[in-house]
Amino acid sequence: MRYPRIIAHRGGGALAPENTLAGLRLAARLGCRGVEFDVMLSADGVPILMHDETLERTTDGSGAVAAQRFAALRTLDAGISHGAAFRGERIPTLEEALALCAALGLWANVEIKPSTGRDAETGAVVGHLLAQQWRGNGIVSSFSMTALTAARQAAPHLAWALLVEDIPPDWRERLAALGGAALHYRADAAAAVVADIPRACYTVNRRDDAEKLFAAGVAAIFTDRPDLWLAAEM
Ligand code: MG
Repeated sequence: MRYPRIIAHRGGGALAPENTLAGLRLAARLGCRGVEFDVMLSADGVPILMHDETLERTTDGSGAVAAQRFAALRTLDAGISHGAAFRGERIPTLEEALALCAALGLWANVEIKPSTGRDAETGAVVGHLLAQQWRGNGIVSSFSMTALTAARQAAPHLAWALLVEDIPPDWRERLAALGGAALHYRADAAAAVVADIPRACYTVNRRDDAEKLFAAGVAAIFTDRPDLWLAAEM
């Protein structure tokens, strides 16, 4: 699996409301070939693009994401963070995001982001949906091994990445258990031990930091600032 070098973090990075279709469109307009987004379940089990377990930071709603049904979440404004141009942006479903990525030719990193206690359920739902609907290119990751294992059972043909902050001593065993093809980790983690596997680092918002990582053999970086690169560099 080949990575795009520059992957827009949470859709369009910091340039659009995170985890929205507007963010994916903006990333494509900038010339990004790759995007990353987070997937969580509504109360009634619909996989949606969402990072936080609560609604306050990114929407005009309040309370736990996992406590609200999709129909209620869909009425919220997910564009409040970026001024009038994005007002009225809705929380997208995973299905909508996959369709848009396919239409725009975007490679996607689907990060499974289970709310507390719903790891296996979220992994299974996302895995089934990906198996049925995903015709594009990309990779699936999660901090939750439980979620990844459940997703892989439903969609064994996909590419999997172990997502960590620091690189654990048993990363090889964990990756093997997962059938994983890559390692995603925090950009400042000590990484001398992992030169022989595709790697991607988050979150890198300076060009010089990215260049150091590429020079060290990192395949890709996740960034909030895809506008720092020209389309030809991505
Ligand atoms: Mg993420």
